[in-house]
Amino acid sequence: MKRIFALLFVLALINQVTFAQKTFIHAGKMVDVKSNKTLSEMTIIIEDNIILDVQKGYTVAGASDKVIDLKSKTVMPGLMDMHVHLENETSPRRYLDRFVENEADVAFNSTIFAKTTLMAGFTTVRDLGGTGVNISLRNAINAGKVDGPRVITSGKSIAPTGGHADPTNGMKRELMGDPGPDQGVINGVADARKAVRQQVKNGSDVIKITATGGVLSVARDGNAPQFQQDEINAVIETATDFGIHVAAHAHGDEGMKRAVIGGIHSIEHGTYMSEETMDMMIKAGTWYVPTITAGKSVAEYARIPGYYPAAVKTKAETIGPLIQSTFGKAYKRGVKIAFGTDAGVFPHGENYREFVYMTEMGMPNLEAIQSATLRAAELLGMEDKIGIIEKGMLADIIAVDGDPEKDIKVMKEVVFVMKDGKVYKME
Ligand SMILES: [Zn+2]
Repeated sequence: MKRIFALLFVLALINQVTFAQKTFIHAGKMVDVKSNKTLSEMTIIIEDNIILDVQKGYTVAGASDKVIDLKSKTVMPGLMDMHVHLENETSPRRYLDRFVENEADVAFNSTIFAKTTLMAGFTTVRDLGGTGVNISLRNAINAGKVDGPRVITSGKSIAPTGGHADPTNGMKRELMGDPGPDQGVINGVADARKAVRQQVKNGSDVIKITATGGVLSVARDGNAPQFQQDEINAVIETATDFGIHVAAHAHGDEGMKRAVIGGIHSIEHGTYMSEETMDMMIKAGTWYVPTITAGKSVAEYARIPGYYPAAVKTKAETIGPLIQSTFGKAYKRGVKIAFGTDAGVFPHGENYREFVYMTEMGMPNLEAIQSATLRAAELLGMEDKIGIIEKGMLADIIAVDGDPEKDIKVMKEVVFVMKDGKVYKME
């Protein structure tokens, strides 16, 4: 009798020490984003926030383990959007909001947009510009205070005076003042260095510049280059010293070229990208983040009377519809593409639309998913942690009904979301 008790005690101890509760996900289908193939009947074994193993067939779980039955679903790595703005969302009031909202209002709003994004299956995003509230949002999500995706944030974007990210564009003179590097507005090399250092001091993970004009700023031009070459070089050299990347918003070709010459990490939007610039990007290994959804959306909103100020309406109608065909050309030419939508310019949670637009231009369905997983992780330099379902990776896993290889529109309804080993959604 004594012996049996001793044996039971030892077994209980072993169970506690070496067999912590594991989670077994039984996946009817699983997208392998390395080979762009769909595998059938797989088991993903997770302990805490790490994928312990991926096995063929449905592995039987231990008595104390948890089983998540996704046998009727298609499972894939958590999705990653390389261009969002979690602080705000499109609205005809947007140009008034900046005069009536306090930082706290922006912060509360951003928690809603973050949660919506996560529930749409996006477990990692790059926030490419806001007021700096996006840095606090990242911290709150990391601390588990707010539900949201893993956020890589640029804080406040950097622009020259009157440039796309000058926060006082379109204001009357007494409100305009003369913002400087602290507010992300630079003129000259010294300012450029200071603005980057300020962003890093504030807690930004990445630097965003507006290399050309943009659609939604109340400024005349949407395409012209905005920085001199020495200013762009100074931004990139200073960021490189900190080991962080620089992303460039760009519509016009000349501004894009200067950014690529300066060693930019990614071109965002890329509307008027010439074949010459595409070839420069291929040679330099520069990423292209298309944001087709933003282009389509602003063109739609521009048709609603009074939605945008007059200066914005004209730019939205002209620039918006072009991005999809630029994406098609860049893809066929071989430019490296990572998924990004510019969510916030359209409602958060509709990020899946980008998959539809990408595949309309001839990118195979699973390659589009690869651009939002493995390729996005490569852009971030985080491919050893996220973007793929493999032994030793963080457990960022989602599932959809149906088969995205056959019908990409199923990406609209994400039914299961696990981020960092924690289940946020299970329908
Ligand atoms: Zn943007």
